[in-house]
Amino acid sequence: VPKSSHEIRQLFLDYFKERGHEVVPSSSLVPANDPTLLFTNAGMNQFKDVFLGLEKRPYTRATSAQKCMRVSGKHNDLENVGPSPRHHTFFEMLGNFSFGDYFKEEAIEYAWDFLTNVLQLDKNRLWVTIYLDDDEAFEYWTRHVPPERILRFGKEENFWQMGDTGPCGPCSEIHYYWGPIEEMTPEGVNRDDRYLELWNLVFMQYDRALDGTLTPLPKPSIDTGMGLERITSVVQGKTNNYETDLFMPIITRIQTLLGHSDAERDAHIVGYRAIADHIRATTFLIGDGVLPGNSGRNYVLRLIMRRAMRYGKQIGFEKPFMADLAETVIQEYGGHYTELAEKRDFILEVVAQEEDRFRQTLDNGLARLEALLADLEAQGTRVIPGEEAFRLYDTYGFPYDLTRQIAEERGFTIDREGFDRAMAEQRARARAHETFNVDELVERYRTVDLPATQFVGYDYQRLTNVETTI
Ligand code: ATP
Ligand code: MG
Ligand code: MG
Ligand code: MG
Repeated sequence: VPKSSHEIRQLFLDYFKERGHEVVPSSSLVPANDPTLLFTNAGMNQFKDVFLGLEKRPYTRATSAQKCMRVSGKHNDLENVGPSPRHHTFFEMLGNFSFGDYFKEEAIEYAWDFLTNVLQLDKNRLWVTIYLDDDEAFEYWTRHVPPERILRFGKEENFWQMGDTGPCGPCSEIHYYWGPIEEMTPEGVNRDDRYLELWNLVFMQYDRALDGTLTPLPKPSIDTGMGLERITSVVQGKTNNYETDLFMPIITRIQTLLGHSDAERDAHIVGYRAIADHIRATTFLIGDGVLPGNSGRNYVLRLIMRRAMRYGKQIGFEKPFMADLAETVIQEYGGHYTELAEKRDFILEVVAQEEDRFRQTLDNGLARLEALLADLEAQGTRVIPGEEAFRLYDTYGFPYDLTRQIAEERGFTIDREGFDRAMAEQRARARAHETFNVDELVERYRTVDLPATQFVGYDYQRLTNVETTI
């Protein structure tokens, strides 16, 4: 019987609990006392000070299923979401941690045992990577894996750090190969999408300072992270995370609401997936107390929600749909993440309000744009001044690509240079006030149209430089 994602999460926590690990609940998506981080991006975040020796806990081993978001900074996957079968904004990271207790050998033994004995993955499809000179890890792995399937990589792949500063160290990763066995080659690992990075074992050894210096930690420690969505995809035999039971209830709900046939759903599958991703992020963020707003984290939530709503329009939604989908998320995840069930009414209310606000924004913006086009026409010009396009975007929250699309339909062009200039000036003003630099993120949302929603299979990397917009 294929295992459900909920069983896999529980099996993982139980496995480590039986081996002396304290089961620690996920911390909030909003990092506590860490001004360097917009959102929690890994299981180790809540243990950062324990690794650094600044905080003591009554245990030296821990395990968790951690809520994570990767939409900014060092770990930013936003542009991959939708087209990528394996990257999400919000995801769950399963992890086991040792604070100066066990090190490489046990970390490797546990991971291998869990994957091959508990979950019974096919050993012949597993590949392992290690940091360049990590002969110790190599030795341990050769107990289980033929040497030709243990590969050495440099800093880019096999040296993990949470951000520009903080705990870090060389790592060893386990990858799963999806393709036909006779086509399996070492060249594919970390390069070819048929190889799926599953689990990262970080050998925490240093604290990185802003100037780059590495100071050894008080004691070598272990930090591991495995995406629940990815391990579930392998266990359930689905090459795409969105086909697992973590996403299918949301996808199916979208389909039901739209009354789409399976063929219609498949024709819009990237939009479906992006919405499924974003509604999870939305629901969990609001559950952790983030409200849509105009700056910092709040603004990121608003951008994510608006992106989902834009996709919604693109795939055929004419009426509000977000709160309905948030309800599906709460049903699916409220059992483990009880804060969702507890805050159900509040979450649904916030989602519904924001959806309504965005509809009003679009209506207002459209009315202003119509008036503007009529004015320009009367003045005998078909060029929209940059400041005007920017005002629509900045003051009225009207998405730039909609302005452009409508302008084009009416035979107008936009003074893009003027627009960019206005944007740059606004940025300079905003920078003085922002705690977090969300400019980069805003830029990604603003510039280009939504990607086509056709299925793109393994070739999603072609699409990773397609940017999206609110
Ligand atoms: P990738 O190379 O696929 O982007 P990563 O090397 O950035 O992954 P790590 O920082 O090593 O990821 O995080 C540990 C694990 O968390 C990964 O091995 C993967 O299983 C999972 N993971 C990382 N990013 C995402 C994401 N955006 N969505 C879902 N799971 C993720
Ligand atoms: Mg990554
Ligand atoms: Mg990687
Ligand atoms: Mg990795």
